[in-house]
Amino acid sequence: MRAQIAAANWKMNLTLQQGEALLDDLSKATDNLDNHRVVIFAVPSPYLAMAQEKIKGKTNVFIAAQNVYNKKSGAFTGEISVEMLASLGIQWVVLGHSERREYFNETNALLAEKVNLVLEFNQQPIFCCGEPLEIREKGTQNDYVATQLQESLCHLSAEQLQKVVIAYEPIWAIGTGKTATSEQAQEMHAFIRAELAKKYGNEVADNITILYGGSVKAANAKEIFGMPDVDGGLVGGASLVGSEFATIISSLK
Ligand code: PGA
Repeated sequence: MRAQIAAANWKMNLTLQQGEALLDDLSKATDNLDNHRVVIFAVPSPYLAMAQEKIKGKTNVFIAAQNVYNKKSGAFTGEISVEMLASLGIQWVVLGHSERREYFNETNALLAEKVNLVLEFNQQPIFCCGEPLEIREKGTQNDYVATQLQESLCHLSAEQLQKVVIAYEPIWAIGTGKTATSEQAQEMHAFIRAELAKKYGNEVADNITILYGGSVKAANAKEIFGMPDVDGGLVGGASLVGSEFATIISSLK
């Protein structure tokens, strides 16, 4: 069975002390995860070391960066490199979140470079894709997402692609309280898997974990994660509340 993942995306929220308290609060929920279940916390960069320390000794629990720069090192004031993440023992990086695409002008081509660097440093990308509302209203969301995959991921070898987790996050559902229906999520996840199968074959595509993101909460996680091609979620708002995220973890297949 492919990995089922509950990934928390704290975004630019919480103080260090609040972050520590939240991880403590979730300590029970992240103990004894069985083999195919994984929990990932994507925390703000200044908290990476603290969070790594907190999860020490746990199995199937990881800390992720929320972004990384597309250069290895050098005169790029304020940026964070894969090398730095590697030196902290970070194994996961969220790439291409719609907020990064929208507010920081991240393009599919730039993301392809970041994906390459992350893989080169033996880290795993959680690659975000998903359409804005106007594309959904036009009904061209499949083409839109196919282009994102094509331009950022499809240059990878099959071996490399298997390190990538995909997060489908329809932009109209992020932070809006408007969740895609479980049928809409399933439909797009099946489409993404079929697109990958066209290039990489069924066996590779069947092994790729595809997360849903966009207003996932305790009350809807079980239904969404229950869909056959949905392998867990990337969770923003609801990941900031211990009891909510604990229920989301327990909703994994
Ligand atoms: P949300 O955010 O759960 O608050 O909608 C999800 C995300 O942006 O990853």
